[in-house]
Amino acid sequence: MSKQLTIALVAHDARKADMVEWAVFNAELLSHHKLICTGTTGGLIRKALDQKGIAADITCMNSGPMGGDAEIATMVVRKQINLAIFLIDDLNSQPHEADIQMLLRQCRVHNVPIACNRYSADLMITSKLWDDETYVPLEPKYIEFNRKNS
Ligand code: PGA
Repeated sequence: MSKQLTIALVAHDARKADMVEWAVFNAELLSHHKLICTGTTGGLIRKALDQKGIAADITCMNSGPMGGDAEIATMVVRKQINLAIFLIDDLNSQPHEADIQMLLRQCRVHNVPIACNRYSADLMITSKLWDDETYVPLEPKYIEFNRKNS
């Protein structure tokens, strides 16, 4: 892929091992992109990539519960994020549930691809569409649907 992407990476505590493994698996690819992470996730990814001798452009926001997801959601609204990888702990509730829903919602509203598991993340990060100048992502349409007339 030749296009440089800005990729948001967020992992809840129970998914951090998954995120680090995923980042190491994709280390060479990630080294060509800008990574925007919540605080703890970013620190762990930086350490893991450092250990592999791979330099990566990583910016750490606040920790998620302290507003990191909200900061990343703001970047989504400002069209500063191309792709989000968000590994959510679906088995335990989080203190910042409202921020999590906000980040997910803003990605949907602003048509930002968001992967919530590693398989989706692998598919999205390797997509040929990133470099296809003829491909235009269509924005979501919010059209009223009249069930009676269908
Ligand atoms: P963290 O935040 O990377 O700072 O742990 C992630 C989150 O819980 O949203």
